[in-house]
Amino acid sequence: MKVKIEDGCIACGACESICDAVFTVEDTVLVNEANISANEEAVKEAAEACPVSVIILE
Ligand code: SF4
Repeated sequence: MKVKIEDGCIACGACESICDAVFTVEDTVLVNEANISANEEAVKEAAEACPVSVIILE
């Protein structure tokens, strides 16, 4: 699974609170790709929780 972040992140912190192994929120969201495979369920949950739907799973 790959995680792509589209433009429009509002830095709300929701993804980080669900899965801080993969998502780090500063001015925008940073993705720690090395941790995606071990956290796929939480990554999916974070993508669904993103209020502006900018976390795209491929
Ligand atoms: S949940 Fe979405 S809007 Fe909020 S910080 Fe994460 S990527 Fe950005």
